[in-house]
Amino acid sequence: MRPFFSYAGRWRETRTVGEDLERLKQRLPLLEYLQRHNWTARPAGTPEEFVGLCPLHRETRPSFYVNARKNLFYCHGCGSGGDLIRFIELSLDLPFRQSITHLERELAPASTSQLLEQTLAFYQLQLHRDSEGARYLEQRGLRHPTIEELGIGYAPGGNLHRHLATLGYSFHLLLEIGLINHHGRDAFCRRVIFPCRQHGQIVNLYGRSIGAAFPHRLLPRSKGGLFAWDSISRFSSVILVEGVFDLAVLWQAGFRNTTCAIGTHLTPPQFHQLSDRPDRPVYIVFDQDENQAGQQAAHQLASRLADAGVLARVVRLPLGHDPNSYFVAGATATDFTVCLEQAQPL
Ligand SMILES: [Zn+2]
Repeated sequence: MRPFFSYAGRWRETRTVGEDLERLKQRLPLLEYLQRHNWTARPAGTPEEFVGLCPLHRETRPSFYVNARKNLFYCHGCGSGGDLIRFIELSLDLPFRQSITHLERELAPASTSQLLEQTLAFYQLQLHRDSEGARYLEQRGLRHPTIEELGIGYAPGGNLHRHLATLGYSFHLLLEIGLINHHGRDAFCRRVIFPCRQHGQIVNLYGRSIGAAFPHRLLPRSKGGLFAWDSISRFSSVILVEGVFDLAVLWQAGFRNTTCAIGTHLTPPQFHQLSDRPDRPVYIVFDQDENQAGQQAAHQLASRLADAGVLARVVRLPLGHDPNSYFVAGATATDFTVCLEQAQPL
């Protein structure tokens, strides 16, 4: 957090207050503030001037002018004018000092994990409201209480942005996190959502498309460590799968030592987690692809783990299957145990 905030309570007494006020206003230019609050404007002749309806009085013809270079406004209708602080004073009917506090709050960097928690809570609500997501989970063999345990939600698309805006999140922040695109549309649309947590905090959201869109989508940020690693790392052996649906059916079948890297490529922190204990064998159960992509990735990973001193076994399923489809096709925990037992170390 910037130093300004730390002495906000006695800012009037500090000699640098003028400078800090200028810096505060630069961080959030008047025009951007107005646009964040849904003020629509058009260019007013010169490149730095914009005009629109006055937010401070009722009017039908635009007479509210903003000079973006000077960072000032003036309304020819009601005669008010000034800088951003003055605008906040007038529009929210706040004294000068509280206007500053209001602006600081608007600029305070919202915690990303808090934003992702609120996003997930919204998606979890949608799962109950929209039967499409629930039907898809059923098709993939997922049941209660695993659905709740994994914190799964559903993004129908088209309503997240509005919801988060009412909670006070700015367009820019949502765009930066990747929850919306440049047009303000929700990034996750018709996707089942899984939270990726690290030490209890959401670090990313994974969205599995239930329609024609590309199947896998993560927010443009790190996918974090291995899925549910906080609870998995204590087991004496670990099963590693490609996808969260594989993990879900294995958890349901009682294989609670299953984790997932979301894909076959492990990030360095994920590899480090998997290899931090040489006495903990790893069973790799990737997709049994016709083109051998999953099998090859499994073998490469197994040899990397072996190099790191970890006993790794590659598990084979019937060709064309992944753990999810295997169980959906009727396999039982006993069938899967046989596959695990048949797996050979490298
Ligand atoms: Zn006005």
